[in-house]
Amino acid sequence: MQVPSHVEYERATSVEHALELLARFGPESRVLAGGHSLIPMMKLRLAQPETLIDINGISGLSRIAMEGDELRIGALVRHAQLLDSALAGEHFPVLHDAERVIADPIVRNWGTIGGSLCQADPSEDLSAVFGAIRATAVIQGRDGARAVPVREFHLGPYETVVAPDELLTELRVPIRPGGGSAYEKVARRVGDWSVAAAGAVIWLDPASGTPTVSEAGIGLAAVGAGHFVAEEAEDFLRGQPVSDEMFARAGQIAAEHCTPSADQRGPADYKRHLTGELTTRALRRAAARACGQEA
Ligand SMILES: Cc1cc2nc3c(=O)[nH]c(=O)nc-3n(C[C@H](O)[C@H](O)[C@H](O)COP(=O)(O)OP(=O)(O)OC[C@H]3O[C@@H](n4cnc5c(N)ncnc54)[C@H](O)[C@@H]3O)c2cc1C
Repeated sequence: MQVPSHVEYERATSVEHALELLARFGPESRVLAGGHSLIPMMKLRLAQPETLIDINGISGLSRIAMEGDELRIGALVRHAQLLDSALAGEHFPVLHDAERVIADPIVRNWGTIGGSLCQADPSEDLSAVFGAIRATAVIQGRDGARAVPVREFHLGPYETVVAPDELLTELRVPIRPGGGSAYEKVARRVGDWSVAAAGAVIWLDPASGTPTVSEAGIGLAAVGAGHFVAEEAEDFLRGQPVSDEMFARAGQIAAEHCTPSADQRGPADYKRHLTGELTTRALRRAAARACGQEA
């Protein structure tokens, strides 16, 4: 079925207005951002909201800015906007690496960061990235806002902590000096969803003579990693010297702890193998960037 069922349409003009509309129309209403996930689901009748609350007219949700020591990214920022942002790329090259391989220009021109996270597709790239860089999601309700670490944002496939009457408004990422980050993805063809993907960020200990990892973040997409991250590999890396051997071992640990499923994109063993290899490569590039050896 390629035709959605009847749906009412409301256009929100502010966050408060969107929250009022969500409260008025209840749990059968849905927020419409870029619509690249929601509209196809409606066409297939996998989603049948009674009312769409269009948030595209809310101007305050589309900015990318530094505030204090945080990078702030509005929920309505489009993929293309994030890819174009020198500020985002300067602090977290992993964001640009990932955005270059998400979908195609048509989807990237309209699909949003907030919609991607709220869709919570297990193969979604940005959840892995924002998990790796330890972002916090700001969720607004009628009684106020709450901040939830992205690592606690997903409850399972297609399910998040955002309640039906709430709005994801912003992602906040703490900036720390001495870091480098990178994203590596394998897809069957250009613009496709991941077969497997890994994002890494590492910070080096400035006090140590030989480069040593003081903190690491590793995000995984499409391979059944809990909360899109590889915590065991992160724990292993903390305090280790920067070396190919350590990164290969961390990749192995990430592969051992993920739970990929066989599907049309490949068998589980292949995805597990990719997880190890892509984690190792992402860590290597992140370290090179932290050492100023790669842009
Ligand atoms: C052909 C194609 C290829 C793609 N390839 C990739 C890929 O390789 N990697 C990848 O990661 N993604 C991929 N995507 C997904 C793409 O990134 C979409 O943009 C994204 O899934 C949804 O963003 P959206 O703004 O379109 O959200 P929408 O479709 O508008 O909304 C998605 C869901 O989130 C909810 N929602 C949206 N915004 C908010 C908010 N601020 N607060 C609360 N709830 C909200 C909606 O109610 C809905 O349930 C692809 C999509 C297509 C169509």
